[in-house]
Amino acid sequence: METDKATNFIEEIIDADLKAGKYKSIITRFPPEPNGYLHMGHAASICLNFGVAQKYGGTTNLRFDDTNPVTEDTEYVDSIMADVKWLGFNWANVFYASDYFEQLYVFAVQLIQQGDAYVCDLTADEIAAQKGTPTEAGTHSPYRDRSVAENLALFEAMRDGKYKEGEKTLRAKIDMSSSNMLMRDPLLYRIKFAHHHRTGDKWCIYPMYDFAHGQSDSIEKITHSICTLEFIPHREVYDWLIEKLGIYPSKQYEFARVNVNYTVMSKRKLLQLVNENHVTGWDDPRMPTISGMRRRGITANAIRTFCEKAGIAKREKVNEFSLLEFCVREELNKIALRRMVVFQPLKVVITNLDKEIELNIENNPEDENGGTRQLMFTNEIYIEQEDFVEVAQKKIFKMEVGQAIRLKGAFIVQCNEVIRNADHSIAEIHCTYYANSQSGQDTSGVKVQGTLHWVSSKYAIPVEIREYDRLFKVENPADEEGDFKDYINENSLNIVNTALAEPSLKEATLTHHFQFLRKGYFYLDKESNPSTIIFNKTVGLKDNWSKK
Ligand code: ATP
Ligand code: MG
Repeated sequence: METDKATNFIEEIIDADLKAGKYKSIITRFPPEPNGYLHMGHAASICLNFGVAQKYGGTTNLRFDDTNPVTEDTEYVDSIMADVKWLGFNWANVFYASDYFEQLYVFAVQLIQQGDAYVCDLTADEIAAQKGTPTEAGTHSPYRDRSVAENLALFEAMRDGKYKEGEKTLRAKIDMSSSNMLMRDPLLYRIKFAHHHRTGDKWCIYPMYDFAHGQSDSIEKITHSICTLEFIPHREVYDWLIEKLGIYPSKQYEFARVNVNYTVMSKRKLLQLVNENHVTGWDDPRMPTISGMRRRGITANAIRTFCEKAGIAKREKVNEFSLLEFCVREELNKIALRRMVVFQPLKVVITNLDKEIELNIENNPEDENGGTRQLMFTNEIYIEQEDFVEVAQKKIFKMEVGQAIRLKGAFIVQCNEVIRNADHSIAEIHCTYYANSQSGQDTSGVKVQGTLHWVSSKYAIPVEIREYDRLFKVENPADEEGDFKDYINENSLNIVNTALAEPSLKEATLTHHFQFLRKGYFYLDKESNPSTIIFNKTVGLKDNWSKK
């Protein structure tokens, strides 16, 4: 097969396996537990699993690892499918580990019959106590040598609900003196009287991770089962079970988790943020979830590029959030429609303008097919308060009495006078415009230092702007002392209620990303409605995040 060069160690392994003729084609899987919404770490795993399969002409299954009935929910299943699709990937099949419960039970019976598994009556505490330590062998369970017949009967009784939770477990009979603690007779099944989101109340025994994952891989004939580094010690159990059962020899490979600074990347922790109302939901634009990033205006392309740049490593590292923002800016610069929005308006009267002038302004200078939009230039406009200064400054790019400045896409105006309120605060600014200075056909010869964004007071519409800061005050909240929630940045949301936008933004939809000139990139929020138009700030125009 003709393939591009391998770009990471996983691809090198696959490349070599294919060259050696080990497989005709490869099959990977993405195996989320449906106990929360997917986050950036999952995005990395999705890009890797689906990406290598695509590159080497194989396929990928989406498999819900739903063996823990207590934490799972169909809401999570639906969101996971939506997120994978949105990222741009297609699975060959959707499977549920729970579909294999019957088959897994049969595998367990096989192990018992072979003398490779036994029913144990020890409590969780007793099992822990007799496990030993990494330097000291564990002790055998007194139930380890039960006969096959007795084990079969007990295991069936477990399934039939004859025992209480914790009263009995099924354990693999491996080696209580193994240097790998997980090989010391690991649990295969536990009793749990819980309603399962798919199998309902059919089962009261549930397989443990080690007895579900590898077997599911094998049933699906997964060639390369890619997981994160913490599963390295599980690999020995994975291989042992597949060998004892004599089933398809799937192989496990591990890579380092992808982390991002100033956030947490664990569904369990993210769930706490949601449940304790530190954020408004899983898709809060401050969340590192795929749905949060999508709502914020981060594109699937930018996430894929980020995952590519973060890379697949054998050692953990923390990626800079600013790397993601870099990828976002790079893409949005190419696709975002340019619009003008004034956040803190200051009224400017153009005293010599006695008509409305229709302007056509380009939507995106980076896109020659971007087209133009119509704007009306009127004798009352707004500029940003901070774009007017009273005290002359050197190298000034702002409006100042006695100076001329250009209004974007419109005309050069000369600032003449400041009109004040009774309390001396500024009421409005009076300017005159140069009729022959229209952008694109300027014959005025007037030199200006800067260009300001503006909106017409007659046509502008009010919009709500939501600006976000990092969710945590420290780089690695999960590694800090105490609770990670002690490090939440309480000022991570800033709502601007004074903004006025050019009227075309009334028609904004979720299909468009916007650059508000001189302000940053913005995206319509899902809570937006005709009476309150809301934009999320996706990212600023410049990097304010990376280390100084
Ligand atoms: P969490 O702790 O957030 O629940 P998890 O590893 O338990 O994460 P799963 O739903 O079991 O989440 O993961 C599905 C797949 O995504 C697994 O193969 C897992 O290894 C991978 N994955 C999860 N988090 C990361 C991460 N930060 N970086 C890379 N891959 C990840
Ligand atoms: Mg998990």
